[in-house]
Amino acid sequence: MNETFNVVIARAAENGTTVTLEKMSVADLPEYDVQIEIAYSSLNYKDALAVTASAPICRRLPMVCGIDLAGKVVESNSADWQVGDRVLVNGFGLSETEWGGYTQRQAVKPEWLVRTPDAISEQQAMAIGTAGYTAMLSVLALQDHGVTPVSGPVLVTGASGGVGSVAIMLLAKLGYEVTAVSGRESMHDYLRQLGASALLPRDALSARSRPLEKEQWAAAIDSVGGQTLATVLAQTKRDGIVAACGLAGGSDLPATVMPFILRGVTLRGIDSVMASQAHRQRAWKALASTLDFDQLKLATSVKPMSEIHSLAADLLAGQLRGRVVIDVN
Ligand code: NDP
Repeated sequence: MNETFNVVIARAAENGTTVTLEKMSVADLPEYDVQIEIAYSSLNYKDALAVTASAPICRRLPMVCGIDLAGKVVESNSADWQVGDRVLVNGFGLSETEWGGYTQRQAVKPEWLVRTPDAISEQQAMAIGTAGYTAMLSVLALQDHGVTPVSGPVLVTGASGGVGSVAIMLLAKLGYEVTAVSGRESMHDYLRQLGASALLPRDALSARSRPLEKEQWAAAIDSVGGQTLATVLAQTKRDGIVAACGLAGGSDLPATVMPFILRGVTLRGIDSVMASQAHRQRAWKALASTLDFDQLKLATSVKPMSEIHSLAADLLAGQLRGRVVIDVN
């Protein structure tokens, strides 16, 4: 097949990396066993860093950007996947070491694929995307720790972002009382619509905290890191858990061991990129049965791939909310 299609590709340039929209053909794709016709990808924090070349996300060049993809199988040399199967990929090094989802066609390894649940369309799968699937992994970590709605309020930081928005929806739907932390007052109505029952300004957590503060949260999902995460740990109730999944506010952790040794608090790291297939399938099944898809729509905008540069800049400037689906066609 000689068909050409559009891709967003990062290339080495004299003064760094350039990311441009180009044409590619099937012959250019990697020699992996399953070829996907992609319907949608999505925009995550890591995608924004890659597209703006503001962090070394693409670890080999040239690199097709996009850490997510959803579509259907159009060619397969794998017994596990048939032409027509509806599939998605999150992570597994897409846009880092493997070519990703900002393209109309991609070739992938069979073991990266997740079957898209029947209840979820391609567009919805990418409205969830890595951010939403990470939110689900975080909620599952809380549940596995034994946190239930009667345990007490759950804190969600980076609330209007992709991970935060989906985490709030999921927690509220599961009956938890959610407190959302946001730097944007203009987002308060939106966050309440998603299910937050209380709101805190970002600076309530970003100021230096004492090693132990008043116990407030049964659990927390933190996509911010830095001082915010340290404060969250200091405010977490005895035997509570904090799922740390992001660094939107910083990758440092200026904390003490006090919450761990005096309150038995658990700090649980969440890695969506290399999560096992069993873990992924559990998360996607839970997403299909838990998410309110009308609410997800409220948190989602669908944009063409041609706008990727301005969308990425807007995300990093904190001007977007919720999730952005990228229509690659
Ligand atoms: P978004 O940009 O959509 O959301 C981040 C949110 O964090 C913003 O909307 C904003 O919310 C808040 N925020 C932004 N900058 C700051 C700051 N300087 N200090 C405090 N809060 C800030 O990103 P995603 O939701 O896609 O990703 C969030 C984080 O999670 C990223 O660091 C990303 O890399 C990480 N991540 C990790 C994954 C994993 O596998 N561990 C997978 C997916 C994401 P508000 O305006 O409401 O305050």
